[in-house]
Amino acid sequence: MPRLLITSLCLAAALWSAASAARTLVLVSIDGFRWDYLDWPQARQMKAIAEQGTRVTKLRTVYPSKTFPGHLSLATGLHPTGHGIVDNYFCRDYRPDCYSMGSGRKDPSWLEGTPLWTLVEQQGGRASTFFWPESDAAIDDTLPTDYRAYDGRVPHEARVDQAIEWLALPDAERPELVTLYFSAVDSAGHTFGPEAPETLAAITEVDKQVARLWKAIQRLNVRTGAEISLLLVSDHGMAEVDPDVFIDTNTLPRPRGFKRVNGSTRVTYYQRDPDADIDKLADSLTEMSDGRFWIVSDETLQSRHFFDHPAVGALVIETSPPRMFRRGGGKYADLRGMHGYPASIEDMAAFLVAVGPGFQSGKVIPEAHQLDLYPVAAELLNLKTPANIASDGGALRAALRKP
Ligand SMILES: [Zn+2]
Repeated sequence: MPRLLITSLCLAAALWSAASAARTLVLVSIDGFRWDYLDWPQARQMKAIAEQGTRVTKLRTVYPSKTFPGHLSLATGLHPTGHGIVDNYFCRDYRPDCYSMGSGRKDPSWLEGTPLWTLVEQQGGRASTFFWPESDAAIDDTLPTDYRAYDGRVPHEARVDQAIEWLALPDAERPELVTLYFSAVDSAGHTFGPEAPETLAAITEVDKQVARLWKAIQRLNVRTGAEISLLLVSDHGMAEVDPDVFIDTNTLPRPRGFKRVNGSTRVTYYQRDPDADIDKLADSLTEMSDGRFWIVSDETLQSRHFFDHPAVGALVIETSPPRMFRRGGGKYADLRGMHGYPASIEDMAAFLVAVGPGFQSGKVIPEAHQLDLYPVAAELLNLKTPANIASDGGALRAALRKP
């Protein structure tokens, strides 16, 4: 056979296999896993996995650094005011009903943007989600091929077992996207504090499950020629708070014509009556604040991409750790950790690890942003992204392995 022909046949075969090998991304969220936890002995196995791939040391968060806004920003590539879920609980000016965690399932109109699982499905692929906030909402009348309605009682092990089962499906049936979600580290961090033994125990438990998942992925990649990559990410970090200095929301003014909503790190006043006196409200808040909290200026909100949306509210006050807002103040001492503060608070930074055939190995990226994940995941999965997303992949682009 002429040499040229052999070469071109090999080349054609290589191109064909590159185009046809369906890539899969397993996206795992570890709620409240602060950026520095990865270096702690409890996360030993996850750190070893990170060394085989790319680690982002500090993943900067959107504002506010809360679970639902953060997860939806990771999933849609949009700021919270872009996808509409601006907090775990929020209202809108001049609208009677309010959003609370998971409301999208009943009323998807709270949500804007195209989450990764929807993008996969719309472009002919399959997505299977074993929890991710709002992954059970029918967005654009589309749901993942397989999904679960959220139930925090499902053991971690069962979630990982199901993910491995999905990944072990034959090539033609294997989903392009699998998501998993673990809340244990966040829960312990809130109740006991970010560095408490209970939080360390939760890190150990999640570390064990992630290691099990990664072993199964490696086995499948070697034995079946699958091309499964793994992305570990968190939605925010955790700061230590002190119940002795909590601000009791019952002591804050609640004038007629406004709805006051406690967001733990901030309090929002929504305007219900266009004639309600906002200057008077601002004055009384300033007078009583005593340096414990402050009104967030329009300029500051703009710099956090938190403006020009009815859910932003008419007036926002905020505090910083170790303070937070709580009804009744610190009389219930069972709260030692909080998040939601702006990204300028170092403890809010999240983590990211990308490993597998789609990512570079032995790489460290000092800093990237949560909004960088969407375009990078889309590129890995060969998906066309919506035009309005907030990032082109930024610093995280360097994690992709070029063919
Ligand atoms: Zn939390």
